[in-house]
Amino acid sequence: MTRSRVWLLLPAAAVWAVAAWLLWRSSLPAYHLPHLDEHALFPAGALQRAQHFSDVERLFWLGKTITQLAVLAVFTRYGVRWMRESAAGPIGTGMLLGMIGFAFVWAAELPFGILVVWWRHRYGLSGSYLDATVTNWFALGAQFVLLCIALGIVMGLARTRGIGERWWLLAAPVFVGLRTLLAFIAPWLLGGRAFHAPYVEPLQRIQHVHVPVRVLSGFSEPNAAATGLGASRRVFFWDPIVRPPFTPRMDRFVLAHELGHLAHNHIWKSLGWYALFAFPLALLLALATRGRGGMGVPEAVPLAIFVYVVLQLVALPLQNVVTRHLEAEADWSALRATHDPGAGRQLFRLFASETLEDPSPPWWDYVFLENHPTLLQRIEMTRYYRASVRETGHP
Ligand SMILES: [Zn+2]
Repeated sequence: MTRSRVWLLLPAAAVWAVAAWLLWRSSLPAYHLPHLDEHALFPAGALQRAQHFSDVERLFWLGKTITQLAVLAVFTRYGVRWMRESAAGPIGTGMLLGMIGFAFVWAAELPFGILVVWWRHRYGLSGSYLDATVTNWFALGAQFVLLCIALGIVMGLARTRGIGERWWLLAAPVFVGLRTLLAFIAPWLLGGRAFHAPYVEPLQRIQHVHVPVRVLSGFSEPNAAATGLGASRRVFFWDPIVRPPFTPRMDRFVLAHELGHLAHNHIWKSLGWYALFAFPLALLLALATRGRGGMGVPEAVPLAIFVYVVLQLVALPLQNVVTRHLEAEADWSALRATHDPGAGRQLFRLFASETLEDPSPPWWDYVFLENHPTLLQRIEMTRYYRASVRETGHP
């Protein structure tokens, strides 16, 4: 990169920092969580079960990730050999190489997917070998389509006269646009059935978010999600969470959490963060593939996939910092809307026994895998809320 281009990066970095600062602002108070002891909060048996289950589950993730990187490194070194026989044109050849690379990654992940199902069954959790193999195989087809679209956009731009190496400046906004479109239409694709409860309307009034609440069947995990933009905004419950042992009081807290996401524009903010990551990642991808002729030539595709996966892994801790921040704000919003920290505490305790989530995972798990505050931190937040109401009369 020439000196003049480096100087161009400085104002870009300043804009990035200001945007990040704006996106980071929240309704959270400057809080300090009280330090609670998980052994006092969770029954010893349940805690041990969740910890043992999670210990092995995260080892599977580590094994999968290392295998994936190793397979892609080998593919980066030797993958170009597949190119010579292809007569599909440069972009077609690039897509073909991309699909071969993804197929290797898929095959490398397969044993770990099967191991996870086996491990879940040992703990009485649901999981399907059919999903881990056959359904996963169809998912690979969908990945191929997305990969080909992405490669088509990137390679097409990189091969356009006058754009060339600067493809990343145009590709990043295209991907942000596609992501926004998907966020807008996804709620309509999900369907679900209408959910009714006496607490829905009052909560919507308190949080100033009037959106449909729907239940999705066919899920085995208790969960919920806030989705959509503008007219497509809605909250989804996965059906296990509206059934016992979850109580209406807990579901009210869950709904308040999801409405909190919408009240604080978290879908828009997530798109903003996506954009903030997309530009530097695309730039790094452009720089990394220059040695192989840039993204306009198929020779660069195996390396591009490897670099992309590595960059995603590197960005994961930062993304988790962002999502944990948004989740903490949604919890805070739920506490303020329900004034029911007891419901939150019961909910998070139940999660540990129902999903076997480790309430207090080791640091590297927290850094790479936890996109929510830990269950222990979420309980500490309910305690903090209670204490701050007691002190000041209002949170
Ligand atoms: Zn959430």
